[in-house]
Amino acid sequence: MPNLIFISFCVTIAALGVFLLAKVQKLKEKEKQISSLKSSLEEMDEQAKLIMRTDMELNKTQEELDKKISGLDILQKLSKDISTTLEEKQIFRKIGSEYLEELGFEKSFAFLWNDLKREFYVCLSLGYDETEPEKVKSSVNKDKGYYLELISSGKTASSVFTPDNFLTKEKVCNIYQVRSFIICPIPAQEGDQGFIFVGTQNIETHITEGEQELITILANQIGQTLDNARLFEKTWRSQQELEIKVEERTRQLSQALDEVGKVSKRKSDFISSVSHELRTPLTSIKGYAAILLAGKLGAVPEEIRIRLEKINRHSDELVHMVNDLLDISRIESGKVNMKLETLDLNYVAEKVADLLSEQLKAKNIAFGINIPEDCRNILADRSQIERVFINLAGNALKFTPENGKININAHRSGRVIQVDVTDTGFGIPEDAQGKLFQEFFRVENAINQEVKGTGLGLALVKHIIEAHQGRIWVKSKLSEGSTFSFTLNAA
Ligand code: ADP
Repeated sequence: MPNLIFISFCVTIAALGVFLLAKVQKLKEKEKQISSLKSSLEEMDEQAKLIMRTDMELNKTQEELDKKISGLDILQKLSKDISTTLEEKQIFRKIGSEYLEELGFEKSFAFLWNDLKREFYVCLSLGYDETEPEKVKSSVNKDKGYYLELISSGKTASSVFTPDNFLTKEKVCNIYQVRSFIICPIPAQEGDQGFIFVGTQNIETHITEGEQELITILANQIGQTLDNARLFEKTWRSQQELEIKVEERTRQLSQALDEVGKVSKRKSDFISSVSHELRTPLTSIKGYAAILLAGKLGAVPEEIRIRLEKINRHSDELVHMVNDLLDISRIESGKVNMKLETLDLNYVAEKVADLLSEQLKAKNIAFGINIPEDCRNILADRSQIERVFINLAGNALKFTPENGKININAHRSGRVIQVDVTDTGFGIPEDAQGKLFQEFFRVENAINQEVKGTGLGLALVKHIIEAHQGRIWVKSKLSEGSTFSFTLNAA
């Protein structure tokens, strides 16, 4: 019996042991499960924290982005507003009027460097009372070395970042009475450079990278606008100077012209009176020579007759020259009225060809006239235009060797008729062409040693053409020939 009890006790104990073992096993499993749950919970907690942190950061970034966008928006408006401003003071007045406060800075300054005075001057001050800008200015000028270095380095200083060798954050805050700030150089190509300062007393405000970027953009914009204004000022000033110079030169020129006019009138008067004075004795000389030649004072021996004929010929040339001189001076002084009438250009040209026919034949020179129908009728003074043709065709004849050609051509453009007198003569050296129409000018060459002349013909022709509101010019090549062209009005 006791054995049975013992056995049943043992079985019970064993069963209990097995049961307990199973329980312990289960407990261990539960424990395992709890610890894995714990670590999952911790992980989740970690993740939740991360999500919260990310969310906060996202919010901050969003906030900054919003700030940046609104800042850029303000800058765009400002840029539009000042870009057309061409006066330095007005540029800063506009910036100060609203924009800087809108950007979130209640205190600001703009300083520019005056190179002559070697000091900074205030262009803008916002958020300070009347006496403070002077104080800030004197302290800025005391530390001008720092600011000049900052400007030349092109770096931005702020309460978050101050470059090497710049004033300490505490000192800047103290000078400008702010808690956070940005100082940014104004880069200008033209004239004085400077810097812009913005700051706030708000302890909450922390200067961000975005704000620094915005102020840098603003400073660049100011620099560009200042450049524009200064360039405009420069251009405007040089234009003013130019206008003054032009006015002065015009005045001098008109004085000189007056003087030239007076001298020219004196010259014309002189030539005119001398010519008149010469005419009378010349007429007498010619008269006496004619009487002597006619034998009215007795028979004239052959030798004397030859000399008398020379006197007669030279007198004719002199009369011719005196007449030309008189005409030039009379046309110059406006004493000759051109009697304009409708003329047949072809008729004038043929008349001249007729007049020169003997000499043309003697030198075997062909004379061609080509005047189209629409160029026939011109408005001109008959006798004066005949002189033009005689002079030009006469010269062509004089300066063209035997067997050459002379042509008179015309063409029309609108109401203007251009006449060209072309020859195949000796031509005129280039350096002489510009002086041809001056009085008494003759080309110095061997041909002119033989060919007689006064150098007055072309001067007279030019005066006549100009009195008809026309122009005259020459094109010539040595050994090839010359073309004298002039214009007249169509009838
Ligand atoms: P002149 O014929 O009396 O010398 P002009 O005033 O008519 O005076 O001409 C001035 C000069 O221009 C002439 O001396 C001559 O050297 C040059 N000249 C004019 N016409 C011609 C021409 N058709 N060919 C070459 N030279 C010319």
